[in-house]
Amino acid sequence: MKEELRKLEQEAIGELKSVRDEKDLERFRIVYLGKKGLLTAFMRRLGKLPPDQRPEMGRAANVVKARLTSEYEKAKQRVASHRERLEAVLDVTLPGRRPPRGHLHPITMTLQEVCGIFTRMGFSIVKGPNIELDYYNFEALNIPRDHPARDMQDTFYVSENVVLRTHTSPIQVRVMESQDPPVSVIAPGKVYRRDSDVSHTPMFHQVEGLLVDRGVTFGDLKGTLTHFVHQMFGADTALRFRPSFFPFTEPSAEVDIECVICRGAGCRTCGQTGWLEILGSGVVDPAVYGFVGYDPEIYSGFAFGMGIERIAMLKYGIDDIQLFFRNDLRFLRQF
Ligand SMILES: [Zn+2]
Repeated sequence: MKEELRKLEQEAIGELKSVRDEKDLERFRIVYLGKKGLLTAFMRRLGKLPPDQRPEMGRAANVVKARLTSEYEKAKQRVASHRERLEAVLDVTLPGRRPPRGHLHPITMTLQEVCGIFTRMGFSIVKGPNIELDYYNFEALNIPRDHPARDMQDTFYVSENVVLRTHTSPIQVRVMESQDPPVSVIAPGKVYRRDSDVSHTPMFHQVEGLLVDRGVTFGDLKGTLTHFVHQMFGADTALRFRPSFFPFTEPSAEVDIECVICRGAGCRTCGQTGWLEILGSGVVDPAVYGFVGYDPEIYSGFAFGMGIERIAMLKYGIDDIQLFFRNDLRFLRQF
């Protein structure tokens, strides 16, 4: 029995060392010191011992009980002070950390905003191939092989008759080929030119618009684009139409808006003119209808195209187009 008591004591002490929290403590108390615990059970059995052995075993059992009780109290204090230290450095009532969350790229946001303005006016969205036939990119837009306009755009040629489209205008031709008027579409997409500096990148985004119906005039073009500018840059933004030239529109006009930086007073961004060019437009040249089988005596229409990077730069006051493509999070997080 002596041996049994010694073993019980050793086990109990060993177990106390691994106690980590209140739950462990309580379990220890019940197993060893409780009314139905091991030590209590041991002491009950003392009554069955021969009378001459009882006092000695009783004393020994009481010593063990006293030791375990004091060790238990020590462990209790240890657990309590551990918890206090933990609470001092750890506020469990704080909310958890949110995982980082991304958002759309500023170019995508601008593209969606532009498309949204036109779809609300009734235009539908159409797409076309990035790798385009020379025919759709130039020929059918009234830009024959010897036309000087081909020099205006440095083109990526895939082969003699295949190019990376230099503008979204070929989509106009594809749409007119496949459906009869009335047509009112916008064509967003990537376009490619051999150009790279603070205001040019080899790939950028355009949105093209086309409306063809009976009796469409330059006045309709003006109204549509004025509404667009007011939606995009604010209802108090002045704009002007400046005569220009494009091979597939006649007459053609470039649209300027009042400089968003200096509000027309003149600054570096607008070259002291107070105006910023944002898009090209015009009445569709009847020659284009010849390629798609529309009767220019019955139908007329207008087309326009704009660079999305340029719109985004003006809207957000960004002076280097390359920033959109560097994927620098310090830049992208600002949107
Ligand atoms: Zn300015």
